[in-house]
Amino acid sequence: MSEGTTRERPSQIPAVSEAASPAIGGSARVGGTQRGFAAYVHFPYCLKKCPYCDFASFTTPREEIPHERYRDAVVAEIGLWAKQRESWPKLSSVFFGGGTPSLWRASALGDVLSALRSTFGFESNVEISAECNPTSLDERKASELLEAGVNRLSIGIQSLDRERLAFLGRLHDVDGGLASLAAARAAGVKRLSCDLIFGVAGGRAESPEDARAEVLALAEFGLEHLSAYGLTIEAGTQFGELARRGRLPIATDDLIADSFSAIDEALTEVGFTHYEVSNYARPGEEARHNLSYWRGDDYLGLGSSAVGTLSDPNSGDATRTKHHPNPERYMSTVLGGELKPQETEHLDPETRVREALMLGLRLAEGIDLGVLGERLGVQVRTAERERAMRQLERAGRLEISEQHVRIPRAARAFSDGIAAALF
Ligand code: SF4
Repeated sequence: MSEGTTRERPSQIPAVSEAASPAIGGSARVGGTQRGFAAYVHFPYCLKKCPYCDFASFTTPREEIPHERYRDAVVAEIGLWAKQRESWPKLSSVFFGGGTPSLWRASALGDVLSALRSTFGFESNVEISAECNPTSLDERKASELLEAGVNRLSIGIQSLDRERLAFLGRLHDVDGGLASLAAARAAGVKRLSCDLIFGVAGGRAESPEDARAEVLALAEFGLEHLSAYGLTIEAGTQFGELARRGRLPIATDDLIADSFSAIDEALTEVGFTHYEVSNYARPGEEARHNLSYWRGDDYLGLGSSAVGTLSDPNSGDATRTKHHPNPERYMSTVLGGELKPQETEHLDPETRVREALMLGLRLAEGIDLGVLGERLGVQVRTAERERAMRQLERAGRLEISEQHVRIPRAARAFSDGIAAALF
């Protein structure tokens, strides 16, 4: 449940953030000499499928969740990965996403962390995040997660409006959302993030002023981090089907853009840094895990449907793996001793350049093309790309400073299209 509609979901694919801020997150930078290494662990079970959700999540009653069997599978997978290489770097971050990881028995989640620690080792400042749903997070659960080793929680609040929450099909109400934040704090969680969805036209349709008021109320709560995602309607979801039949209220692009700006202004006013298109943080509280994706670090994808990317230490190539989304199929494969992802994709250096542009330009810090080219062993500034860069610069959509490029704040909402122009 980073829930949102989010395109930059850890399980799906990378996405992250802040200019001139070399210390952000304390992990590697694209092309830097010191790089991070992350692990994403997918937990696929939810109590109910939200109508907008296209993540690999499965409605399962609490009592039917296979806590221990799923744990055994992920631990087995860790052992299988360990055999693939002679040496591995220490992990700089671990992220439990889903699905609803806060439904997982904390002891099982802790066993997975122990296996990761004993197999790969953790950097001293390792970030360990778990996504939580307000309906499965109380003070006791938050304490158990802390004891298991988690040091950052991301809670799927999504809205502070009763009608919009109902429209989004959420199981919690406004008080329940706020109570989960308070419970996390009472348990001693120091790094707290929440997800919010804007651009919601159903329920009591949201205005940019509503979006501003919601993020300010959450900021007032003292959060360290906030992710704000525009609602996207995906084919294959309940909302997608309703939209296809013309029966879903949908916000206009202008309204979504206005809400995006209202959120940006409001959070910037109260001291947050807009470090990535959809992410805001207090200084030094950027999510290291997502920065890892956006900066092009290697990451293991563990669990059903999880995506991982590992670069070849001897070339600019990389391999991307994706596990089968069906949890049963995933479990029986790895418990049978096989590390057999459903998909394995070879990424050549030019493909990785395009991906690095797509991800790196989402960040306020932008990307150093010289370092990227050196790392991948290719010429990034081809004549054609140079022409496109200068055109974007003249249009006020790209800032170029020697080898460094970034998108100015005013054009950040168009980052995907800007990056695509450089392909
Ligand atoms: S709670 Fe489950 S169904 Fe709802 S958005 Fe999160 S992952 Fe999807």
